[in-house]
Amino acid sequence: DRVKVRRALLSVSDKTGLAELARALAGMGVELVSTGGTRKALEAEGLAVRDVAELTGFPEIMDGRVKTLHPGVHGGLLGVRADPAHAAAMEAHGIAGIDLLVVTLYPFEATVASGADYASSVENIDIGGPAMIRAAAKNHAYLTVATDPADYAEILAALTEGEGETSLSLRQKLAARAFARTAAYDSAIASWFAGEVGNMAPEKVSFAGTLAETLRYGENPHQSAGFYRHGAARPGVATARQVQGKALSYNNINDTDAAFELVSEFDPARTAAVAIIKHANPCGVAEGVNLADAYRAALACDPVSAFGGIVALNRTLDAEAAREIVEVFTEVIIAPDASAEAIEIVAAKKNLRLLLTGGLPDPRAPGKTVKSVAGGLLVQSRDNGVVDDLELTVVTKRAPTAAEMDDLRFAFRVAKHVKSNAIVYAKDLASVGIGAGQMSRIDSSRIAARKAEDAARAMATERSGAEVAAGLAAGHAIVPLTHGSVVASDAFFPFADGLISAIEAGATAVIQPGGSMRDAEVIAAADAHGVAMVFTGMRHFRH
Ligand code: 5GP
Repeated sequence: DRVKVRRALLSVSDKTGLAELARALAGMGVELVSTGGTRKALEAEGLAVRDVAELTGFPEIMDGRVKTLHPGVHGGLLGVRADPAHAAAMEAHGIAGIDLLVVTLYPFEATVASGADYASSVENIDIGGPAMIRAAAKNHAYLTVATDPADYAEILAALTEGEGETSLSLRQKLAARAFARTAAYDSAIASWFAGEVGNMAPEKVSFAGTLAETLRYGENPHQSAGFYRHGAARPGVATARQVQGKALSYNNINDTDAAFELVSEFDPARTAAVAIIKHANPCGVAEGVNLADAYRAALACDPVSAFGGIVALNRTLDAEAAREIVEVFTEVIIAPDASAEAIEIVAAKKNLRLLLTGGLPDPRAPGKTVKSVAGGLLVQSRDNGVVDDLELTVVTKRAPTAAEMDDLRFAFRVAKHVKSNAIVYAKDLASVGIGAGQMSRIDSSRIAARKAEDAARAMATERSGAEVAAGLAAGHAIVPLTHGSVVASDAFFPFADGLISAIEAGATAVIQPGGSMRDAEVIAAADAHGVAMVFTGMRHFRH
């Protein structure tokens, strides 16, 4: 299964490492064949190269659109050497066998990322390159194929060690990489095209991207992982600039995405907003007069969980907010931008990652989400429903007050980003208790209320001992933060019990999609307690 490399075809757009590779190959007596630009680059290095036109008997035509698409090349890539009929065909047509193919494709992804116009993007779709890569990878029984300068060292080492021969296992590995490369390339083209065409059904849109980074490990240390990016210029964790801090882990990226998507629901022109995330769920979210104010309120919701969390902000990180955040152990800060002074304050914590995105994504933008299941993928359009666009229907005798209404909208905005079953208590535009990811809605409701009690207790212990002692002596029990709050539920209450538990915790107003068979029962329970309730007509499941 070892194959001697006698002839190499090099056709590269990215010429990184080309000269070193070609010189080493020439040194091993390998004959070099190249397309126009690559040949010139090699000749400039003083290397002897044959033009691919010698294999095809045909010049490059149409601005290079057709240069290697010819039996003289593809016969040399696809011919099965051990098959006498193939060998005879090669002989009869004077087809030279190619043993090593080195191709880096037209830089389509980089062209699109640079903001190039439609025509140049299209022109940068490589046709002959992928055809050669796929041919060589298919015929890996005989061919070695490189599609990335990062592969060169490994190939050279193998050739040196193998006295000019490659092993089947190396060729298989490189063939797998080659098909991954052409698949990613085509999916980058497909994603870009879908964006140009607009409003394509998500299930018709390709999902994969380009491997941007191999991560140290996945969700757990025994899992391997990579970070793929696809074309779109949506501001977010995939396009952010990392100003400082350790490399992001798989979980960091997942959580940071959740944090930034949540905070983007808050229009920065209207309000400052901060979200603190743990395990992809918010443990505190708040609006404020400024970011520092919002951060303090978000932190108060669940200061225990916020430890080691991810903080997302919807405005430029300023010095005051940065000072507050670095007081608490935090993994990542993500914001549209940061002041020079804030960057300096964060720099004091050298492990803390600071990501700047240059903007906020539009929560109303169309898009798609992908989730893997055994043997397949689930693709859907992204949940771009925003509570401000919904018609809210008051279903109880009492309508919410203006302040309750503001809190209800806030709570529903947050609930959209909490794993189901989601229950969010809010007061004064801050979350005060969040129940996430429970299998029953009533459990989420109880957990959220209990967390609000814990937070109240934590605040009490922060007050001076004398103050608390005086309060207790005067018979004041600790008042959970849910007292006088509002509550949001991501889906309808199937029974009145979840609602009653929220009312017992002190909620005075409720926002939920409605639509349960038992809505009448749930509304009656609210009315019986003088609680105001609005229906949104939109569910925000999130799993
Ligand atoms: P060069 O700079 O050597 O002239 O061209 C190298 C590039 O051309 C590589 O990116 C390679 O994938 C691409 N290429 C090779 N053959 C063809 C072809 O027949 N048609 C097109 N469109 N691109 C080709």
